[in-house]
Amino acid sequence: MKRVQIIVTSCNRRSLELEQMKDFFRGNGYSVIGEDFEVSRHADLILHSTCAFTTAAEDFAFETLDRIQQQKKPSARVIVCGCLPEINPDRLSSVFDGETFGPRSYGRLNDIVNAEKKFEEFPRPNTLEITRSLKTTVGKAKALVRSYDGSLQGLDYMRTRLRNYGARNAISKLTGYERDRQFYIQIQEGCPCKCSYCVIRFAVKGLKSKPIDNVMSEFHRGLALGYRKFYFMGDCSGAYALDIGENLGNLLKRVLEIDEAFSLHLTDISPVHLHLCFEEMGMLCAGHKITSLYVPIQSGNPRILKLMGRGCNMDRVKDMLLSLKNVDSLKIGTSIVVGFPSETREELNDTIEFCEGVGFDWIYCHSFSARPETVAAKLPGQLTPEEIVERSRSVRSRLNDKTLITIAEDTKGNRTCQG
Ligand code: SF4
Ligand code: SF4
Repeated sequence: MKRVQIIVTSCNRRSLELEQMKDFFRGNGYSVIGEDFEVSRHADLILHSTCAFTTAAEDFAFETLDRIQQQKKPSARVIVCGCLPEINPDRLSSVFDGETFGPRSYGRLNDIVNAEKKFEEFPRPNTLEITRSLKTTVGKAKALVRSYDGSLQGLDYMRTRLRNYGARNAISKLTGYERDRQFYIQIQEGCPCKCSYCVIRFAVKGLKSKPIDNVMSEFHRGLALGYRKFYFMGDCSGAYALDIGENLGNLLKRVLEIDEAFSLHLTDISPVHLHLCFEEMGMLCAGHKITSLYVPIQSGNPRILKLMGRGCNMDRVKDMLLSLKNVDSLKIGTSIVVGFPSETREELNDTIEFCEGVGFDWIYCHSFSARPETVAAKLPGQLTPEEIVERSRSVRSRLNDKTLITIAEDTKGNRTCQG
C-alpha cells in the first residue's frame, strides 16, 4: 500500500479541505501516515499545504519545502498545494518543478494520482483529526533552532516564534479533547472583497456559497450525532450567500428556529458585512447560542480603512459590536494591521482606541507586509521594518492588560505565524 504524508503550514481555513484530501487518499488505496511536521522517510508521496499571506509565511513555506526535499526518501514524490502556488507561482517555479495546485483546484489530484474515486465524490468532512501534536511543535522548534544565525536580532526572532509554538501547543493540549467534539461546517469559500493589501483573495478566488438548506441539514446531522459546538467556517463568512441571493442573516434566522442546546462560533465576519446579520446575531447572542465571534477590523482609522479598501462606517460597527458585547457569554475577537503605508502614530492610536472602546477579548496583531501584485505594496509612505516592529510592541504594551494579544514579529517586520 502506498503511503502519503500531508505536511501543513497553512491556516485553519484550509483544514476541512485537507480532511477531505485524507479521505480521498484513503479511498484510493493510500495509507495516510499522519499530518505531521517531521518528514517521514516512509512516505511515497508528500503533500505540502502552504500559506503565503505574509512574506514571512511564504518564507516559512519555502524553508519547509527545502527541508522536505532534503529529508524525504529519494523516490518520494512531492506536491505543493495550499495558497502559495496561487500567490507567488514565479518564486515557487524557480525552486520547484513538481506538481502544484491552489485551494480551488483539489480536483487536480484526480489526474496527479490517477484516482479511481474522484476527489469530488468525497464529502467535505465536519470534524478534524487531532494530529497536530506535541511532535509537530517540537519539530517546528527544532527547525527554528537549527536555522539560528547567531545574531541578537535572530535571537529575538527565535524567542518570539518559540513562544508562539509553546503557547499553541499548550492551547492545543488543553483544548484537544474539546476540539474532538467540535462540528465544523464550511458554509462558503472564496472572497468577494478587494482589500488593497491582501493576497489571500488571489488564492481563494471568488465567492462560492453552500445553499442554506445544505448548511442546515449538516447542522441537524451534527445535532443528531450529539455534537453541541458548531463552527461556521469560510474564507469570508460575512459575505456568505451574497452570490446566491441570500445572506448570513437569512441562514442565522434558520439557526434561530432550532430548539436545542448548542453553541455556535462565527469567524471571519468583515465589519462591512456585519449589518447583514446583526439582528439575527443579536437574538442568537441573547439566547447564549453564539458564544464567539471574530470580526477583523484591521484598523480603526477612516483614512487608513479607505486606503485598505475596507471603507465602512466604523462608528456604526462599534455600536453594533458594543450592543452584542452586552451579553456576558459572548467573546469577540479581531485582527489589526499595524504599519500600513503612510499610517501615522495618531492613526494607529485610533485603532488602539477603537479596540479599547469595544473591549475585544482577543486581538491578532499583524505587522503590515507588502505582498506582490497588491495595491498597498505600491503605495507611498512605506514604513521601515523597525518602525513597524516598534509600533506592534507599542500596541501590545497598550492593550495587553485587558486583552489576549497574539503578536508575532520578525526582524523584517513581518508576521511569523498563522492565526
Ligand atoms: S494565505 Fe490565508 S487562507 Fe491561505 S493558508 Fe494562509 S492564512 Fe490561510
Ligand atoms: S476580506 Fe479582504 S483581507 Fe479578507 S480575504 Fe477578503 S480581500 Fe482578503
